Amino acid sequence: VVAEITVAPLPVAIGKGATIAVLDLSIAEEAEQMRRDFVANVSHELKTPLTAMIGFIETLRGPARHDEKARDRFLDIMEREAARMNRLVSELLSLTRVQSEERRRPTTEVDLPKLLRGVVATMAPTAEAAQVVIEVEGISDSQRLLGDPDQLVQVFQNLIENALKYGSSGGYLGVRMRRIDYEPLLRGPAWAVDILDRGDGIDGMHLPRLTERFYRVDTHRARAQGGTGLGLAIVKHIINRHRGRLRIDSAKGKGSTFTVILPESVASQV
Ligand code: ADP
Repeated sequence: VVAEITVAPLPVAIGKGATIAVLDLSIAEEAEQMRRDFVANVSHELKTPLTAMIGFIETLRGPARHDEKARDRFLDIMEREAARMNRLVSELLSLTRVQSEERRRPTTEVDLPKLLRGVVATMAPTAEAAQVVIEVEGISDSQRLLGDPDQLVQVFQNLIENALKYGSSGGYLGVRMRRIDYEPLLRGPAWAVDILDRGDGIDGMHLPRLTERFYRVDTHRARAQGGTGLGLAIVKHIINRHRGRLRIDSAKGKGSTFTVILPESVASQV
């Protein structure tokens, strides 16, 4: 499912036993347009690296045939581009899977602090390579909620990866878990996990569109970092599935805080 279709047929009875369906075509057309845009975006994202790779292959066959230095450099670029295409296809599959599961409530008991500790440990070498110190706060006792553990790992891994890719200039990454007695957005108690960085931050005008598929603040920089533009779209759908919220608090030059808010649904109370 790449676009949600919300065509509501209105059955109208005409005479005996016959019904016709009146479709709201404006909604159908909008869904169709979204699907077309999506296909165009995917095609463009795949075509750009492919075109570059074909160009390099031609150069290697022709003018750079005996140039060893050029060959090594071109092979490096081609390897990088191929790896990015591979990631793009994996993330497209992941997005499709997450979207198709969005309506199914997750049912596994997850120990959130334990899960967070695991993600932080996995990301530690990347943080070290980026010369970023990770500081954790409030991640201690066992706290259980109902969730999909693999998907929640994906959420926190994506957000930490982004903080390391785009927010590493501050040399700091915070992972903070806290309990909210009453979260108005969820009308009840919740757990909040903040992923904080002190990097360049994001201009306010971009924030509302940040979780759209393929939306990137700086396309060139994101591509160079190996980004696909799908990470936050996947995060959004997973959080939706958990009936949670994503809050993004950022300002240019001030770093960013991405907050995942999950309803506290202690297994024994469900
Ligand atoms: P990408 O694969 O390009 O990283 P995402 O959907 O994960 O795609 O993120 C979308 C865009 O949001 C990124 O291209 C980047 O411009 C911006 N972004 C995400 N996280 C941060 C952050 N912590 N600091 C600054 N910009 C960010």
